[in-house]
Amino acid sequence: MSVNTTTNWADPATCPFCGGDLPDPGAGFVDHLGESPDCESGFEVWRENVAGDVAGEWSG
Ligand SMILES: [Zn+2]
Repeated sequence: MSVNTTTNWADPATCPFCGGDLPDPGAGFVDHLGESPDCESGFEVWRENVAGDVAGEWSG
């Protein structure tokens, strides 16, 4: 599994948004997002925050 992110993902087998166990790190997380709208929206916000931070650094 090669995920290039800057988040401090404590445990790839645990959902960082609800703390639930993931059956399979990576693909299982994607499946989990599809089943948990709250986690999906949380992931969207997190991703936008990451993009926002990068954009802020570039424009600053
Ligand atoms: Zn979750």
